[in-house]
Amino acid sequence: MKVAVLGAGAMGSLFGGLLAEAGNPVTLIDIWKEHVDTINTKGLKIEETKGVKIVKDVKATTDPSQVDPVELLIVFVKSTVTEVALESVKSIVGDNTTIITLQNGLGNIEKIEKVVGKGRVIPGVTSHGSTLLGPGHIRHAGQGDTYLGEIDGRITKRLNRIAEVFNRAGIKCRVETDILSLIWSKLIINVGINALTAITGLKNGDIVKYPEAEEILEQAVEEAVRVAQSRGIKLQYDDPVAHTKEVCRLTAQNRSSMLQDVLNRRKTEIEMINGIVVREGEKAAIPTPVNRVLTNLVVTMQKTYDLRQKAE
Ligand code: NAD
Repeated sequence: MKVAVLGAGAMGSLFGGLLAEAGNPVTLIDIWKEHVDTINTKGLKIEETKGVKIVKDVKATTDPSQVDPVELLIVFVKSTVTEVALESVKSIVGDNTTIITLQNGLGNIEKIEKVVGKGRVIPGVTSHGSTLLGPGHIRHAGQGDTYLGEIDGRITKRLNRIAEVFNRAGIKCRVETDILSLIWSKLIINVGINALTAITGLKNGDIVKYPEAEEILEQAVEEAVRVAQSRGIKLQYDDPVAHTKEVCRLTAQNRSSMLQDVLNRRKTEIEMINGIVVREGEKAAIPTPVNRVLTNLVVTMQKTYDLRQKAE
């Protein structure tokens, strides 16, 4: 299957590298020239727990006009730039192109559809974890399942075909009839963990050691659950607060992606995580004061990186 990956960072390189290794023609598209050049000259270096491998059969480019239309476009830019990135690759979206998004947060489906129209997007979630170590170099930090599903819940030929291509590449993939349930279930865990770790600077396991932080986690999750329920979303677990705390304990040593973004003075995905809970809550007249405070704090932090740099 002819594949392009939009955003070849930690996750895009991982998925693109594995699909290329399995024999699919893959082009990675990224704006980071040094990364692209390193992949083209030296290959993509993937550190796994069982060793390091170099994937040579993967192409990379900063220029989407060099790429012919593909059968599958996988979007792995941060959700802060989904729309602008999609605009830049419109020429590779043909009549038979399916677009997959496995990005975190809500709103990516709508942003992609705004650029390319409805009917093309298959959303999903993945439990794989990956870290970008440098140009052309990633660490595959954690294995996990990937779920894909048509927005209307149908099990289509294209869905099965993409899942088969993923499975053959060693990306364990299941097809789902209620993908929004999985997306919201993952969102709610991120709602409880990401902003709180980004603001406090704590690792995932630490926020459940302090009752004051734990209380914020509980309230943020409860608000998000009420918003999900108002939209008729059925979650994957019975007790979302207990489940989120369990995830904190299971990933105790992890620094959340939002904490990493704040530490590296990058724009975070806050608007698509806690921020979207606030916006969806407003539409349904459900109060979300804790998520609003978390969102406003993270937004303030990311707007003032420079101010704090000057004060040091
Ligand atoms: P990342 O920052 O490592 O990679 C994003 C890449 O997009 C970068 O290489 C950047 O240069 C590139 N980019 C930015 N603007 C672009 C543009 N206009 N056109 C093309 N490329 C552009 O991010 P990541 O960790 O790979 O995360 C990607 C998405 O996957 C996020 O939504 C994240 O929440 C989600 N996710 C990440 C993980 C993980 O373990 N890293 C796990 C699950 C889901």
